[in-house]
Amino acid sequence: MGSPAAGAMHMTDRSDEELKCLRARARARLEEGTLPRAKAVRTWGGLGTGQPCALCDTPIDSHEPEFELQVDLSAPASQAVRFHRECHAIWDTVRGESSWAQWIPVAQRLPAPDELVEARVSLAENRTVVLNLLWVKDEASGAHIWVNSTTMAPLPEGWLPSAWRPCVAGPIDSHGPAESAGATGASVPRRA
Ligand SMILES: [Zn+2]
Repeated sequence: MGSPAAGAMHMTDRSDEELKCLRARARARLEEGTLPRAKAVRTWGGLGTGQPCALCDTPIDSHEPEFELQVDLSAPASQAVRFHRECHAIWDTVRGESSWAQWIPVAQRLPAPDELVEARVSLAENRTVVLNLLWVKDEASGAHIWVNSTTMAPLPEGWLPSAWRPCVAGPIDSHGPAESAGATGASVPRRA
């Protein structure tokens, strides 16, 4: 540690002020939808490829760890979200805070049909998970049911959504350099 390599200092020597600034930026981007609110369905780790970080906008250099998130399985790879390790942690913390998006109790109001939402689901033994769900019409019964937005499968027996909030998963590339989004797709690394 401690070698002040040129170009890497923004990752290793962030002041409290800079961190506060990044948290505020994360909140703003979550609110405007340019950063995903949903938990990633897949996350890859590896070294950067020089593409900009979705939070701090500085390039993730080839000697820095990069987190690459896929938020929606059906989205093209060019819509992956890239973060520095530290920026990923900030995003993950801020998106977990409830101040910017109130949970709406299911008993009070249900989401619109087919609206992608983030839902708190109660399981047995007082456990709770947060999942991306859709409130859809079941063709067989005609009733509305909750389904997992990734698998489109109904929830297992005993899983009860208790509250939800709107889930904004895109557009997630709009913060990037103008007009360059189309060029990034081919070089997206697929890491195990
Ligand atoms: Zn960053």
